[in-house]
Amino acid sequence: MDFAFIFILGLLIGSFLNVCIYRLPQNESIVFPPSHCMSCGNELKVLDLVPVLSYFVLQGKCRFCKTSISPRYAGMELLTGFLFLFTYSQIGLGLQLLKALIFISFLVVITFIDYDHQLILDKVLLPMGIVGVLINLLFEYSDFIVTLGSLSFSLLVNPLDWLSMGIGFFVGGGLLFIIAMVSGGGMGGGDIKFAAVLGLWLGWQMNLLVLMLAFILGGIVGVLLIATRIKSRKDYIPFGPFIAISAWIVYIYGIEILQWYFSLT
Ligand SMILES: [Zn+2]
Repeated sequence: MDFAFIFILGLLIGSFLNVCIYRLPQNESIVFPPSHCMSCGNELKVLDLVPVLSYFVLQGKCRFCKTSISPRYAGMELLTGFLFLFTYSQIGLGLQLLKALIFISFLVVITFIDYDHQLILDKVLLPMGIVGVLINLLFEYSDFIVTLGSLSFSLLVNPLDWLSMGIGFFVGGGLLFIIAMVSGGGMGGGDIKFAAVLGLWLGWQMNLLVLMLAFILGGIVGVLLIATRIKSRKDYIPFGPFIAISAWIVYIYGIEILQWYFSLT
């Protein structure tokens, strides 16, 4: 039951993230006008907005003008659904899950806008930073113990204090700033700000792990893309998606990764 609920929630949120990914880079509002066909402009009916299902019912075409709809929208909804489901299976129900799902939603938007436009937008990073700080502050002095019969669950969100957030912010942003200076291009201002904002969510220790992992992943994928001649040495490969994927891996498995790393040394 929980699984179905979380998955459907993921599909619905994924549908909203599609809107953000498409409209924010165009400087359009994410609430107005209501969803419409990109081709004929007709407003979508409630049934057209049902995630994934509507795509198959309409056979991938607009109800009005029959223009093909990119399967990417349904794909994004499914991706978000599965990410939500997987996160739930790792974390379980509780505030910790709520925090994780908000975090993932921001990461998905950043990843796809950066992939499409080589841009990480301030109007995504700013709310992400504010929400991260608020979650840390709001949950700071609460223990959120829930008792059900003889069982009690702690729903503590492991809040970071101001100092941890501040150090995380400057360590993440500062490190990428230095690398951008030294490498002379390849790393954009958006990547620097993104790394700083992640510090507010993760603290400096986990943020360092994120950046290390992002460089490893980016390096491996870059070499593969060049070796398979999909990209040439001169092509620009956005770094934001690697930071986002690493942030998600560290969010779920950071402690395990550190334990494994220190057991090797
Ligand atoms: Zn249409």
